[in-house]
Amino acid sequence: MIIKFWGVRGSIPVPGLETAVYGGNTSCIQIIHNDKIFIIDAGSGIRKLGEFLKSHNQNFDVYLFLTHTHWDHIQGLPFFSPIFDYRYRIFIHGPSMLGKLKNMVSGQMGYIYFPVKVDDLASYLEFRELQKETFTIGDVKISTIYLYHPTACLGYSFEDGKSKVVILFDFEVDISQNEILSGDYFVQMLRIIGKENVPSFEEILEFANNADVLIIDAQYTKEEYKTKKGWGHSSIPSAINFALKAKAKRTVLFHLDPGRTDEDMMLIEHYLTNYFRMKNIKMEIYVAREGLEIKV
Ligand SMILES: [Zn+2]
Ligand SMILES: [Zn+2]
Repeated sequence: MIIKFWGVRGSIPVPGLETAVYGGNTSCIQIIHNDKIFIIDAGSGIRKLGEFLKSHNQNFDVYLFLTHTHWDHIQGLPFFSPIFDYRYRIFIHGPSMLGKLKNMVSGQMGYIYFPVKVDDLASYLEFRELQKETFTIGDVKISTIYLYHPTACLGYSFEDGKSKVVILFDFEVDISQNEILSGDYFVQMLRIIGKENVPSFEEILEFANNADVLIIDAQYTKEEYKTKKGWGHSSIPSAINFALKAKAKRTVLFHLDPGRTDEDMMLIEHYLTNYFRMKNIKMEIYVAREGLEIKV
């Protein structure tokens, strides 16, 4: 599998000189396996991916997996040019929103917000609501798990028989299953997925176990997290601790805070690489960057 990063930011796109190296686009990752095209999330990064597919690709079946429907994960879809091309079939997967996934995604294309309605698009679009499940597309096994976030949000795992790529964002590592079940946090998520479907921390850890590549939410510094508990994101140290417990071989810090500049990110990446070397930690660590490609 080849993993390509097209958008790595959380919350809102932040173009500009200060973010030119790591990139300012919101969530979009492409996984290529043989002739199959998998895309995780339709943040603003998907616009450029759409241009790339139209000029380089001859396969017109696209499998899109939305982690959830927060705006930074769907806002690029109206600008993904394959949706205007009759040759494409786009299978849009996302967490079960009790039958409303299509409405939630296409609501941003209502006439007040966008000139073209989703039902008038030239491509073939099919919405598929997912819960915790495992299925195959071609010879790739895809599994899902619910994550700790204010709304229903799915983590994904892609396995091709040789390697395992695990995607866990938006995900707050430091909220406990008990805090959610007791109604202290994420009431909306609970309402959508039901108490019985909130996984334990160990289940999420098991889901990520031995990942060849783990892409994980690491929006905040330890200091910032103190005032952001319940926002649905992890601090960098908590994300790394999770990755170490899951015995990930390579970890990619993702959903970067929009306020973090290239200089901040370089310092963090440099510090972590040195710290891991000093402590003799074998796991490789990266900060996600637009254009980054990882082969597994
Ligand atoms: Zn997000
Ligand atoms: Zn979110």
